[in-house]
Amino acid sequence: MTIITLTISDDLFQGYTVVLDIDYYDNNEQLCEQIITTLKNHLKLHNFETLFLKLIEKKFHIHDVTFGEICLMSQEQVVWVCSHCNYTHK
Ligand SMILES: [Zn+2]
Repeated sequence: MTIITLTISDDLFQGYTVVLDIDYYDNNEQLCEQIITTLKNHLKLHNFETLFLKLIEKKFHIHDVTFGEICLMSQEQVVWVCSHCNYTHK
């Protein structure tokens, strides 16, 4: 079991953090999907209607590190999930 820390870098959702067991994921896209799904669920659960609509407009990605590098990281290191640029996953 390898636990990693993902944190969002964004004007509205800055700092939102989840810890995931990387054994359940195969690539960076899946990690992004997971943190956004978790955030969506929180927003829905507490009826943050406007924030929810803002969230689904945004595109998130991890561009600092490859999935292979993330697998070697420790829980104390942060993997940033960014929405600021036009990066697309290859
Ligand atoms: Zn970016």
